[in-house]
Amino acid sequence: MEREIKVLQEKATRDIDGARTLEELEEVRRRYLGRKGALAQFIKRLGTAPQEVRPLLGQQINRLREELENLYASRMRALEEEALQRRLAEETLDITLPGRRRKIGRLHILTRTVREIQEIFLRMGFEVVEGPEVEIELYNFERLNVPRDHPARDMQDTFYLEGNPDWLLRTHTTAVDVRVMEGRRPPMRVLSTGHCYRRDAPDASHSPMFHQADGFMVGEGVTFADLKGVLMTFAREFFGPQTRTRFRPSFFPFTEPSAEMEISCVFCGGKGCAVCGNGWLEILGCGMFHPRVLEMAGIDPERYTAFAFGMGVERPAMLKYGIDDIRLYFENDLRFLEQF
Ligand SMILES: [Zn+2]
Repeated sequence: MEREIKVLQEKATRDIDGARTLEELEEVRRRYLGRKGALAQFIKRLGTAPQEVRPLLGQQINRLREELENLYASRMRALEEEALQRRLAEETLDITLPGRRRKIGRLHILTRTVREIQEIFLRMGFEVVEGPEVEIELYNFERLNVPRDHPARDMQDTFYLEGNPDWLLRTHTTAVDVRVMEGRRPPMRVLSTGHCYRRDAPDASHSPMFHQADGFMVGEGVTFADLKGVLMTFAREFFGPQTRTRFRPSFFPFTEPSAEMEISCVFCGGKGCAVCGNGWLEILGCGMFHPRVLEMAGIDPERYTAFAFGMGVERPAMLKYGIDDIRLYFENDLRFLEQF
């Protein structure tokens, strides 16, 4: 029986060490240490052993039980630890995985361009204002000396509001000039920016909604030389110090004299290319406010003079950033927007 105990010890030790899971270990425990397990069988058989060896065998069995219980306990701790580690490994983040990059938004290129224009004029002492996008004919047309039969007033060119025939989506931010002049006394230097609307079918260079920056300066002794100085400064700051400008006679109902300002082509530097043709690019319309316009705003045209200008925002930005289709601004394609 002593020999059998020895064999059992080896076998049980091997089985306990070999248990791969807590379930297997429990199985092994039952087999050797359980109520009907191998050690219990030995104890039962102890009664049949010769009287003189019984105490010794009893001691050996007890020692083996103790030894196996210790082994069992430490194996159990090891398996529990392993299971814990496995669960932790499965549940923790894999820090070697590349993270999900959170996309950071940015300002639309047109918003940035509007702000850039505003900053240039703010540095020249202009005040930046905004006005309503739904305007009345009085401010959009009449007070700007735009006659009844002017094509801009045509239903085909302008969005009128249903049910309010003299309400419309403003066709230019120049309407804001009128509102500001009406409520204040000279001198004033004001820039207004915002959306404008015209019934243009969208193509590469037209959009029914677009942005304008419109400004004026009114005071005693304001001349066309002031206009040129301000607008040439703007052109050089916006397009770069190498930019040259020229003014060509033009016509607007609300200015007299009127002019178009052109800049030397940003692509060829003025030599002439496919974009500009003759080396010049039209940028904005300008002129001295018509005395009638000042008068209608309650400003004495005998005492005060004013220059005014208006430009789109889309086109200067297209020239500056090399964008060749105005529709790209409004398609919300991130591949386009993320370039700026
Ligand atoms: Zn050119």
